[in-house]
Amino acid sequence: TKHVPFSSRFLRPAGYINGAWTAGGATKTFDVINPATGEVLASLPDMGTTETTAAIDAAYAAQVAWAARPAKERAVILRKWFDLMVANADELAAILTAEMGKPLPEARGEILYAASYVEWYAEEAKRIYGETIPAPSNDKRMVVIKQPVGVVGTITPWNFPAAMIARKIAPALAVGCTVVSKPAEQTPLTAIALAVLAEEAGIPPGVLNIIVGIDGPAIGRELCGNAKVRKISFTGSTEVGRILMRQCADQIKKVSLELGGNAPFIVFDDADLDAAVEGAMASKYRNAGQTCVCANRIYVQSNVYDAFAAKLAAKVAELSVGDGFKSGVTVGPLIDEQGVAKAEDHVRDAVSKGARVVTGGKRIEGAGTFFAPTILTGVDRSMKVAREETFGPVAPLFRFDTVEDVIAQANDTEFGLAAYFFAGDLKKVWRVAEALEYGMVGINTGLMSAETAPFGGIKQSGLGREGSRHGADDYLEMKYLCIGNL
Ligand code: ADP
Repeated sequence: TKHVPFSSRFLRPAGYINGAWTAGGATKTFDVINPATGEVLASLPDMGTTETTAAIDAAYAAQVAWAARPAKERAVILRKWFDLMVANADELAAILTAEMGKPLPEARGEILYAASYVEWYAEEAKRIYGETIPAPSNDKRMVVIKQPVGVVGTITPWNFPAAMIARKIAPALAVGCTVVSKPAEQTPLTAIALAVLAEEAGIPPGVLNIIVGIDGPAIGRELCGNAKVRKISFTGSTEVGRILMRQCADQIKKVSLELGGNAPFIVFDDADLDAAVEGAMASKYRNAGQTCVCANRIYVQSNVYDAFAAKLAAKVAELSVGDGFKSGVTVGPLIDEQGVAKAEDHVRDAVSKGARVVTGGKRIEGAGTFFAPTILTGVDRSMKVAREETFGPVAPLFRFDTVEDVIAQANDTEFGLAAYFFAGDLKKVWRVAEALEYGMVGINTGLMSAETAPFGGIKQSGLGREGSRHGADDYLEMKYLCIGNL
């Protein structure tokens, strides 16, 4: 039996190509599952290479006219899309919770967060400024203009089904690119709903296309290999990011990559411990630990280690795990069996090497893919939790003594997305902030994402930035014009 908690207006069993809701030539379907119950929410056409090519052709044909629209016109349309997302936030949130599992209030928060990128880039569309440069002689003038890169292919993950897409589509459309978007196979319904509203907002046929399907590698190969696509913007695992970057190498195709993280979260002994606990709760257990900026390794200075562990355990005891539609639930299911297996594996590995489970540590039996919020003490760097992203509600607490030692441990990873630390002394705050090799550092806070700020990583966590005035650059080329014989 299907229990679909939202109206059919948003439930199109189709992709979106050139302004038409269509299965293309797809003959098979795939199911979208509610991870809290295991029930099938919808069956969608399993689109692949043929449909992706058609969508690219449509995006290519639409791009010149879209870019030729005055920035203000594109801004008005994006603003309308933003308004529609806000007006429909409750229903969009229900779709998101149904297919992804996060608690309904968190889902609503994500919808508004996604919408904020659309609003921001509706505004930024009008501020794509060029440059004039003093010329070396009086008979010349030198000018830089910014132009859209062209057709953009986006590939996004399931953990933020609305925000990850909005962060790419909004700047791309704002500056005059057109888009072929492939949402994660686990969470295509939110993407479809956003496209329904985009159409309502007046985004013209071909400007935004959505391909749904389970064969990510085939769709990815076409997006990377088709010369009409000028740029790939991907959010997901470092492993897939590497594949896409390799596939883009033949055509020197531009890439923006938001990849894995392995965020350190450091608590110094002069920190406000209650604030640090609050920060850790938000950073670790939000989205059931399934975010790329999640605290993955929590380092606590020796003399406050026990106190911090006790306070954290008290807060974790207040969490309520369950179906995201139930009121009061604060932690939803993990996305699938694989997610649960990884959390189990990380806990088992840590325990076998001497860690202690303070709370949780195991899956919750019954329907759905739930894992109990977990705290591990006595962890060390020989364990998987020190090296790999857990992507689940597991908080390993490492002990450290000196500033030098913790900076070295925090930076000892190929990743460089987000880091967090809690401290009081201003000198130490600056020193640690500058020494952490990460694209983003939260200082005395566990939450830092905002559409106004540049989100992105260094090292193997990615290339490019999303959000802020810098985010538009990822979708722009600069062109230097030299006017002579004046
Ligand atoms: P996650 O572990 O979060 O699912 P992935 O990197 O596997 O992260 O997936 C993120 C997105 O990349 C999804 O939309 C998925 O379908 C897509 N994907 C997975 N493998 C490939 C691939 N080889 N080429 C292109 N896209 C892929």
